[in-house]
Amino acid sequence: MTDQLCPCGSGKPLNSCCGLYLSGKTYPTTAERVMRSRYTAFAMGNIQYLHKTWHPDTCPDLQAEDIETQWTRLEVVKSKAGLKRSVVEFKAWYTENNQEHLIHEVSLFKLYKRRWVYVEALPSWP
Ligand SMILES: [Zn+2]
Repeated sequence: MTDQLCPCGSGKPLNSCCGLYLSGKTYPTTAERVMRSRYTAFAMGNIQYLHKTWHPDTCPDLQAEDIETQWTRLEVVKSKAGLKRSVVEFKAWYTENNQEHLIHEVSLFKLYKRRWVYVEALPSWP
């Protein structure tokens, strides 16, 4: 368990990557790290962390069955950090019925109570 690689694709052990955030030991300081750790939370079924990193205005009432997707890989395409808004473009792959699918999203993050939180998907790169 200790040398399990982090699902976010960083190549680092989970415990010294997103595991630090999911366990609540610390909070990620950049939107890109929030995005990566949210992917890991989706992959590991950690609803509590997803709620914690979601802006209260857009956060859905997630249930366990909402996040049963089998995530296989994450690639951060690019990210742009701002003072109060940051944007992260990523691709995430998952398998369903033995077929690989891809989600390609541009995500908006905002600073809320001094923490970066996910707000929503944007229609395109701003
Ligand atoms: Zn990670």
